[in-house]
Amino acid sequence: MSREIRVIGIGIHTKTSRCAHACRYCLMGRKSSDGVSTARHIAIVDRFIEWRKRNEQPDFQIGQAVNYAANISAEDQGQLMQLHKRMGWQSFTMRVHLGGLPIWPDDEISEWFRVRKASGVETVHGSLAGHGRVHDYWNNRKGDFEYLLKLFRLAAAEGLGLRQRLFAIKSTLSLLPETAALLDQAGEPVERYLMPFFYRGTALRHEQERISKHDLDTLAPSIRNLMDLNDHRWRSEADWVAAFRNSSPDIDPVNLQLELTERNIDAIENSSCDEILERLTIRTRMAYDALPSRGELLERWSDDTNVHIYPYSQDVERLWLDRYLGDNPTKFERHLTHLTDRH
Ligand code: SF4
Repeated sequence: MSREIRVIGIGIHTKTSRCAHACRYCLMGRKSSDGVSTARHIAIVDRFIEWRKRNEQPDFQIGQAVNYAANISAEDQGQLMQLHKRMGWQSFTMRVHLGGLPIWPDDEISEWFRVRKASGVETVHGSLAGHGRVHDYWNNRKGDFEYLLKLFRLAAAEGLGLRQRLFAIKSTLSLLPETAALLDQAGEPVERYLMPFFYRGTALRHEQERISKHDLDTLAPSIRNLMDLNDHRWRSEADWVAAFRNSSPDIDPVNLQLELTERNIDAIENSSCDEILERLTIRTRMAYDALPSRGELLERWSDDTNVHIYPYSQDVERLWLDRYLGDNPTKFERHLTHLTDRH
C-alpha cells in the first residue's frame, strides 16, 4: 500500500553561497553554489506570497531557505530580512549561522558582525562536536574549534546573543562538560542545547556514533540539565515504534519542494505559480506512490528492540525506508518526499 498525501504548502530552496566547510556529519550533500542569485530566489518566493493572497489561501505554507552559508552580501542579507518579515518569520529573521564561514582576520569578523547587527541580526548560531581535535575532526578543518570560539567571543563583543548546539555522539559524550566550560569563556549563551546526529546526509556514514538510551545515563548532571529527556529528540527507535503504533493512520501533510538551480530558474520564472504547483504536485505524488505506507514500514522494517536515539520522526522513518530499499531497490525522486536523504 502506498502513501496518501495532502499538499499543504511549498518550500523554495536555493544554494546561493558555497560552504567553506566539509563537516563529516553534514546534511547537505554537495556544497557548491547553484548559480542563482539571492534576488532571483526572493522574487520567486514573493510571487508565491502574492499567489497565496490572490487565491485567498492563507493556510498554504510557504517556506524558503538559502544555503549553505550566511556569507552573503549585507545587501542580500537585508533583502532576506525584509522577505522574512513579509513571511511573518520574526524570530527566525534575527539569527545568522556561523557554520560554513571562511577563515577571516579578526577585524573583518568584527566588521561582518557589526554590519549584520545593524541590519537587525540579534543572535549567532554555531554547532560543536566536542572540542579541540575531536571537534576539528568532525568539522574537517584544523583549528575550527578555536576559530568558532573566537567567532562566539567577537559576536558577544558586538552585542550579539550566542546560540550553541552541542552534538551528543559517542566520541563527544565524555567531552561535553569541558566543551561547555570552554564555551562559557566566550560569554553566557542565550541558548545551549544538545542534539544527536540526524539520520540524514553524510551523518549516515557514522551510525556507529549514534548514542543509545543507556549512554544518556552516563552524562554529567551539568549536561543533563541542558536536556529535556521527555523531548522527542531523545527517543530511541523502540520509543518511536511505540509512539507510531498509538498514532493515527498515514495521510502525510506534504510541502512541495522547489529547488532553484541555474538549469531550471529560467523555466520557473517563465511559468505561472499554478503551473509550477501542478507539475510539482504530479511529480511529488509519483514519488510518494513508490513508498510503502508508514504502517507497512512500521510493521515490517522497524526494530522495536533498538535503543539507539533518532531525534525526529523523519529520521527514524528514513531508517525504515533505507531497510525497505535495501530489500526492494526502487528508483524514485526521493528528494521530493519528506524522507529525502539530502537537503
Ligand atoms: S554542516 Fe553546514 S557548515 Fe558543515 S559542511 Fe554542511 S553546510 Fe557546511
